[in-house]
Amino acid sequence: MRVADNKTIIDEKINAACQKSGRNRNEITIVAVTKYVSVERATEAFEAGLYHLGENRDEGLLNKYTVLGDKPIWHYIGSLQTRKVKNIIDKVEYIHSLDRISLAEEIEKRATKPIKCLVQVNVSGEESKQGITPLETLSFIRNLDSFSNIQIAGLMTMAPLTEDENKLRACFKKLKELQKEVQAANMTHAPCMELSMGMSNDYTIAIEEGATMIRIGTALVGGES
Ligand SMILES: *Cc1c(COP(=O)(O)O)cnc(C)c1O
Repeated sequence: MRVADNKTIIDEKINAACQKSGRNRNEITIVAVTKYVSVERATEAFEAGLYHLGENRDEGLLNKYTVLGDKPIWHYIGSLQTRKVKNIIDKVEYIHSLDRISLAEEIEKRATKPIKCLVQVNVSGEESKQGITPLETLSFIRNLDSFSNIQIAGLMTMAPLTEDENKLRACFKKLKELQKEVQAANMTHAPCMELSMGMSNDYTIAIEEGATMIRIGTALVGGES
């Protein structure tokens, strides 16, 4: 399928989810996750009007950046090794996987301008998942207030791998609650307007629960081959 055709289908589902939950379509950004696909396919996505692209490895990002440059808005969405920060920091607008102070320190040191970071929260508590615990989230963010190159743009989570809609919904609701807590703390470095949640299998539920960024790979550009 052409990316444009997949996008049409997804746009319809997004619109339906927005209608169902009384949300405005303009609040939602699709991050096209190109980590599994070629530079050509990523270019096709960009040309189909998907201006936000997400990668989870520095090699993948650099490879595509060589061709597409800074025309797309680049999102780094995967676990980020501290020593890789210097490779991507001048190319990305968003980092969705801030999950430890040592990573924040490296971003602070390497960035030449404020980077929009999302704190990755392990809401589901699965051992295999990255992210800080919900309980730690507020204090983690408070501790970043002196980091001039880090702006806490929002929170990110990966839902548990399940078809159980109630479990998915509970996970997304929890992240929304946490966002409200962070916003209530009124920290200038943490406007926390974004909620990055929802992937190919669960983005409509995520939208109903307040997602502002959905990260879609498989359903949009293709998955692991
Ligand atoms: C791969 C990936 C996605 C996209 O997953 P799909 O199921 O292919 O849509 C979203 N977020 C993160 C963090 C990923 O690593």
